[in-house]
Amino acid sequence: DLEWEKEMMKLLGEEVVVFDMATREKLSKDYYWYSPVLDNRLKDNKPADGVALPRNEEEVAAVLAFGYRYQIPVTVRGAGTGNYGQAVPLQGGIVLDLSRMDRILEIGEGFARLQCGVRLGVMDKTAREAGQEIRIYPSTYVKATVGGFVSGGSGGIGSITYGNLWDGNVLEAVVYTMEETPKRLVVAGKELYDYIHNYGTTGIMTEVTIPLAPRTEWVQVIAQFPSFEQSMRFSEALAKDGAIHKRLISPMEWPVPSYFTPLSKVIESDMAAVMLEIADGLLPEVEVLAQSYGGHIGHVIESEKYRKTIGVSDFTWNHTTLWAMKTDATLTYLQAGFNLGSYMEQMDLIKKQFGDEVLFHFEWIRSGGNVTPTCLPLVFYKSEERLYEIIGYFESIGVKIFDPHTWVLDNGGRGEVGSMERRKRQNDPQGLLNPGKINYVM
Ligand code: FAD
Repeated sequence: DLEWEKEMMKLLGEEVVVFDMATREKLSKDYYWYSPVLDNRLKDNKPADGVALPRNEEEVAAVLAFGYRYQIPVTVRGAGTGNYGQAVPLQGGIVLDLSRMDRILEIGEGFARLQCGVRLGVMDKTAREAGQEIRIYPSTYVKATVGGFVSGGSGGIGSITYGNLWDGNVLEAVVYTMEETPKRLVVAGKELYDYIHNYGTTGIMTEVTIPLAPRTEWVQVIAQFPSFEQSMRFSEALAKDGAIHKRLISPMEWPVPSYFTPLSKVIESDMAAVMLEIADGLLPEVEVLAQSYGGHIGHVIESEKYRKTIGVSDFTWNHTTLWAMKTDATLTYLQAGFNLGSYMEQMDLIKKQFGDEVLFHFEWIRSGGNVTPTCLPLVFYKSEERLYEIIGYFESIGVKIFDPHTWVLDNGGRGEVGSMERRKRQNDPQGLLNPGKINYVM
C-alpha cells in the first residue's frame, strides 16, 4: 500500500485503476517464454505495482502526468503478444493497458485512422467489408493491437508486397510524451522512425493511421518440392515476379511442415513446403512456375474460404515456431537476414556446420523496395552458449542476426537507435517509459 497508489485511485477511480494481484500478474507478462533465454531471466520478474486501463486520451495523459509527478515507471501494453519481453515492466510501476481504446475512428479511401487498441483482425475484417484490406500484419493478428504491432513488431503477411513497418506502412501517429504536462504530438513522415518499434520507450501512441490496399481475393496454396533448394529457387522467382500479386511466400524445409498437425492430412512427407497466398485467378501461372523448379501444387484453399477455416498463414512467420515448439519443446528460433546474391552458399555453409540442429524456414519480403530472403530458422536449443555460438557463425558468414532473445532494443530487430535515444531524452526526461529496454545515456 504505497502512498501513490491511494493518490492514483483518488485521481482516476476504480473504473480505470486496478491493483489486484491476478490482474497485475497477467498484464505484466507477454510471450517472453517463447525464448528459453528470456524465460529464464523473466519468469520470476515481479509484476507491476498497479494497472491503468484508460478509456480515452485524457486518461492516458492523466496517468503519464501522475507517473511523472511521483517518478513511477510506465510500461504500455496492447495485447501482450510480443515475444521479446518488451511489455514486461522490469522495474515495476504502472502497466498502461490500452486495450479499451479500440475504436476505428475513420476509414477513408486508402487509409484507416485507429485508436491504438484496435485488434488487427477486427480492422482487416472491417476494411474488407468496405472493399479494402490491411497491407501488412503479423501472424498474431487475431489478438494483436495496431499500437502494439507498430511499437513492437516489424512485418508479416503482406510484407512480400508492401515491406515492413518502416516502408510507408504507418502514415501518422498521435503520441503522448511523459513530462510534467504531457504533450500531444501528431507525428508523420521521417519522424515516425523514432516511434516505430520503440517498445513504448519514446512516447505513448494513442492513435495510428495506416494505409489500406484495395481488397483482393486470396487463394491459399501449399506448393511442394523434393528439395529445399528447389523450393527456394521457386520462391525467389515468384518473389521477383511483379505480375503475380501475392501476400505470402514462406518456404520451409522438411521436417518443419511435419509440425503442422492440423495439416497432417494434406502435407506431403519428406518434401519441402512453400506456404502461399496469391490473388485469385493466378494459380495456373504459379503452377507452371512451380513445375519449372521441379515442384507441384499440393493443398489449395479457395478464396471463398478465406478466414473461414484455419489458413496457411497460421503456420507462417512466428507461428511456424509456435507449432514446432508444440511438437518439441526444445526448439527455439532466430531471426536472420540472408544475402539475395549468395543465400544458397550461406545455407550450405550452415548445414555443413550444424546439420539438422538448424532447420530452415524463410519468409520472402520486400525491404526498402528490394526482394529479401529473411529467415526464421528453428534451432534445437542446448544452452545459451551454444545458441550464441550459432549466432556467431551466422554473422561470420555475412548473415545478419536480429536477436529474438533480448529485450534490449539496441541488440534486437531495430538496428541503429541513435535518433531514438535523442527523442527519448526530449519526450521522457526522467527515463520512466518502459525502463531497461533501451540503452542510453540520460
Ligand atoms: P504488445 O506485446 O502489447 O506490445 C509490444 C510492444 O509495444 C511493447 O514493448 C509495448 O510496451 C509497446 N506498445 C504497445 N502499445 C503501445 C502504444 N500504444 N504506444 C507505444 N508503445 C506501445 N510480430 C511481427 O511483427 N510479425 C509476425 O508475424 C509476428 N508473429 C508472431 C507470432 C507469434 C506466435 C508470437 C507469439 C508473436 C509474433 N509477433 C510477430 C510478435 C507480436 O505478436 C506482434 O508484433 C504484435 O503485433 C504485437 O502486438 P501487441 O498488441 O500484442 O503488442
